[in-house]
Amino acid sequence: KTTHFGYETVSVDEKAGKVADVFHSVAAKYDVMNDLMSFGVHRLWKRITIDMSGARPGNQILDLAGGTGDLTRKFSRIVGPQGKVVLADINSSMLNVGRDRLTDQGYVGNIEYVQANAECLPFEDNSFDVITMAFGLRNVTDKDKALRSMARVLKPGGRLLILEFSKPTNPVMSKAYDLYSFSALPFMGKLVANDSESYKYLAESIRMHPDQETLKGMMEEAGLVRCSYNNMTSGVVALHRGIKP
Ligand code: SAM
Repeated sequence: KTTHFGYETVSVDEKAGKVADVFHSVAAKYDVMNDLMSFGVHRLWKRITIDMSGARPGNQILDLAGGTGDLTRKFSRIVGPQGKVVLADINSSMLNVGRDRLTDQGYVGNIEYVQANAECLPFEDNSFDVITMAFGLRNVTDKDKALRSMARVLKPGGRLLILEFSKPTNPVMSKAYDLYSFSALPFMGKLVANDSESYKYLAESIRMHPDQETLKGMMEEAGLVRCSYNNMTSGVVALHRGIKP
């Protein structure tokens, strides 16, 4: 399997290396896999995230771990020519697919693309009105460090929204979900992207991710206030929010 591992500018431990491999490998098929794996529901989860972000014309927005740019595209419309959206991702393949796709669709002028690690964001303090991180935090090695970095670059009063897989709230859903993620996901990964290993890794990373209350506590630890979350699809996914005081 080809990886662009050697070109990564970030410090690479075992986990970061695995994450890099996974996303270089899935970048080209990422969008179609997203629709398949979530039965299209990820579009709804993202729509709700945009609505709850309170983004307005003229805002400065960071779409962290933005990948192929689903959220960036919507924000680009909202913030208009006076605003700016920064699509930041650690992985050059995902960034390239995102940049090509958005440029082809005519989204130009208010979007910047930055290769960056969430753990040490290369932006000034107090830069953004809104930061979103959708399905990215579970891949980050030091999540506390990443949350502190996000809090640092938010403006006072700015909002952080983290959309991520979480802990299903009822046992039936929890069983069904386990079954689905550990057998159906790798199978579909093999079929569509010819890569069952990457999708196995994704399923494992979902299971290891902190549950709703733990993540809320981590956001508070990072210095954010009024932290809260909303479960979606019975807690398969949760949207956490916090504000920089
Ligand atoms: N936000 C997009 C979406 O919802 O469709 C992409 C989500 S994709 C599942 C996860 C993304 O996180 C990948 O593009 C990956 O490269 C990125 N990522 C992983 N670790 C990261 C890190 N430490 N810093 C920034 N991005 C990271």
